[in-house]
Amino acid sequence: MLETDVRYLKGVGPARSRQLAKLDIHTVGDLLLHVPAQYRDRRVITPIRNLIPGEESNVSGTVVSSGLWKSRKGKRVFQVELEDNSSGRIKLSFFNWKYIAGRLQPGSEVIASGKIDFFGGLSIVHPDLIFLNDESVESPLVLPVYPLTAGITQGIMRKLMTSAIEKYVSHVCEILPAEVLNSYGFQRRAEVVREVHFPVDPPQGEQARKVLALEELFLFQSILNRVRINASLRPRILIAPPPDTLSTFLQKLPYELTNAQEKAVRKITDELSRDIPMRRLLQGDVGSGKTVIAAAACALCCAAGYQVAVVAPTEVLAAQHYKTLRGMLEPMGIRCDLLTGGTTGSQRKSISESLKEGSLDVLIGTHAVFEDTVIIPGLGLCIIDEQHKFGVEQREKLLAGRQPCPHLLIMSATPIPRTLAMTVYGDLDITLIDEMPPGRGKIHTRVMDRDKRTEVYSSLQERLELGERAYIVYPLREASEELDLKDATTSFHVLRDGPLGKYNVGLLTGAMKASEKLDVTSRFTSGQISVLVSTTVIEVGLDVPEATVMIVVNAERFGLSQLHQLRGRIGRGINDSWCFLMKGSQCGIESAQRLSVLASTENGFRIAEKDLELRGPGEIIGTKQHGIPAFRIASLITDAELIEKASELASGSESGPHLLQEYRLRFGHLDIPGI
Ligand code: ADP
Ligand code: MG
Repeated sequence: MLETDVRYLKGVGPARSRQLAKLDIHTVGDLLLHVPAQYRDRRVITPIRNLIPGEESNVSGTVVSSGLWKSRKGKRVFQVELEDNSSGRIKLSFFNWKYIAGRLQPGSEVIASGKIDFFGGLSIVHPDLIFLNDESVESPLVLPVYPLTAGITQGIMRKLMTSAIEKYVSHVCEILPAEVLNSYGFQRRAEVVREVHFPVDPPQGEQARKVLALEELFLFQSILNRVRINASLRPRILIAPPPDTLSTFLQKLPYELTNAQEKAVRKITDELSRDIPMRRLLQGDVGSGKTVIAAAACALCCAAGYQVAVVAPTEVLAAQHYKTLRGMLEPMGIRCDLLTGGTTGSQRKSISESLKEGSLDVLIGTHAVFEDTVIIPGLGLCIIDEQHKFGVEQREKLLAGRQPCPHLLIMSATPIPRTLAMTVYGDLDITLIDEMPPGRGKIHTRVMDRDKRTEVYSSLQERLELGERAYIVYPLREASEELDLKDATTSFHVLRDGPLGKYNVGLLTGAMKASEKLDVTSRFTSGQISVLVSTTVIEVGLDVPEATVMIVVNAERFGLSQLHQLRGRIGRGINDSWCFLMKGSQCGIESAQRLSVLASTENGFRIAEKDLELRGPGEIIGTKQHGIPAFRIASLITDAELIEKASELASGSESGPHLLQEYRLRFGHLDIPGI
């Protein structure tokens, strides 16, 4: 019944149904879950004398005059004047007056609600009305105020909702366990749906909204829980390397592990030998030293006779991992190779053969590593770096098809607030690296006005003179007609042919060929280039300890988390580093304040929380592919407490097929093998 198209509701024709579709309302079920953004509580009356323009208020009084006028645009408008016992007066205006005019005459007593305007006097345009001396019309004291779209008014939406509730609410099915409903003061879900739209008072409405938000999160967490259970039942791979493997590996490192790294390595060692396939997220701020942990996992796996796939999101990063991992693993007699989109046919063939005969242990690369043609017969562990844009569906597709099931280690430098992580990574266990390796220089972050350019560039030259290196990042790759922003390509030419010419300037953009990108990065790494002009392609992964300056131009165009990632490219050596966030001409006060958050802290989690608050979850977890459905009711920002509750509830209950069906109804397809 709830899947009934809204077109079949009374009062909905093709035009209205198109308008509703804009609100993502297609079925009656969708409509019932279109919850009010707020409520208008008409029990609280403000004396007219005390009204404040701009506020939503309710006034109660008697009509003292009425009449029809022509507005400036020639439209006819019906206006009445209302007086209350504070002897204040306010005008009520109606453009659709035919129905109202007959009932609103001198002597009528009403409660009028709406936003208070001031045009030469107090007024409300199209107030909601309660006729106090006409009991033939039912007027709830608490009114829902809905998110709307052009063509639909509050009145229309309320009418639609009333008739949808009347006819369909008895058909809604139960989702949350009864005791949970009870704990919020409800007996049945139908009651919750009714109350969210027409509550006895606003707190009751908010309570109902909470239940619906919780249920929405619960549906999602139940799916994650099923994924977890399914995964834990898969045939496992037991990694049992010779006992001295880890200590040998650690002895060969040029440094000691930090406590956080050591804890992570111990956890992973433990899990690789358990009877459940590992699914772990290693979360650590940029520069916290995740790579060496991945290397340790590789060493353990290979010493036990298994092969490892390491996947990075870009060719540049894959190449860097190849170099770093090889450096740590080859001394252990572990053989590594690199496979990316740029690998030639004959190289691929030889990689395939080495994999098959077991003479290749660790294959590092981009997504090419997961192509069907790449067969890794002894795959025991998959390591995915920086893949926060990889949703649960993609993770499952990768693992579910492989028997036995390889262990999975995901590394992310995106600090995600805990509750958001429970949503994005609800199917994974999380290890946090909350400590930086010792012996790093400080990073000084400064937000700079546009006119301080000279100052910034002279600081830059000072560092370059000392043989250090710098990144300059622009929001755009190339000049754009629409946007008045600096771009990397134009600026590269200007800088190279101008003041920075003698330091060797390189350009790195996403549009360049993979081989060109690799070439310019390796020249920057080796020091042949001292200044790398770029876009956000350098956001992840580059590890050049000599780089001590990061200049971000038009910094207000970037998210805080993104800027934090960019800043993570410097401060990797023993020298102090400088991060200059240059404001553009369009940078407003709010943006400037946002930027100052970066200057005040280097704690990625705090920055991410601020970003979540200011720009929403898409900014932090990537927009499309993160695998989180679009929640209709729950907010990942303000409903943090409900996320925790939902996750607890889901892990304690068996998710029956009706939940799965409800999930599909709400969020559309779900492409997870075995679910
Ligand atoms: P990320 O977590 O951002 O991937 P990396 O693994 O690239 O960080 O490590 C950053 C730098 O820190 C590398 O140059 C690495 O060699 C160094 N490093 C990692 N762990 C330690 C440690 N325990 N002591 C000193 N330096 C370390
Ligand atoms: Mg890294």
